[in-house]
Amino acid sequence: MAIKKCSLRTMYGDYPSADYFKDFLHKIYPCKEPFELLVVDKKPKTRAGVYIYDAHRIRIYAPWGHLKETAIHEYAHHIHYTECGSKAHGERPHGPQFWEIYGALMCVAVQKGLYVEERVEKIAKF
Ligand SMILES: [Zn+2]
Repeated sequence: MAIKKCSLRTMYGDYPSADYFKDFLHKIYPCKEPFELLVVDKKPKTRAGVYIYDAHRIRIYAPWGHLKETAIHEYAHHIHYTECGSKAHGERPHGPQFWEIYGALMCVAVQKGLYVEERVEKIAKF
């Protein structure tokens, strides 16, 4: 499938498309259950993204910035939910297993050169 490179043009700036982020996440780890991803031009007060469990849908609120971090965070919820049975096991959404998954995804993203951030580089060089 060709990845749409076109960006989402908003009053806050231009952002990569939903397909760009789906491709980015699949390159880190190919999840087993399909999911929907939306890049939304809204800035809710309290969150940069959300995972809607029943719909397997990730929403990234573009004006917050840090979109790759947010995408990985919400993707970790998707994997936690669909592949680790978090609901069945009564795991809290931000319990230890969630942070293990998030940490592993972030680690792979950095190792594969998909997530390049100045802050991470500084720590890596320390
Ligand atoms: Zn979360």
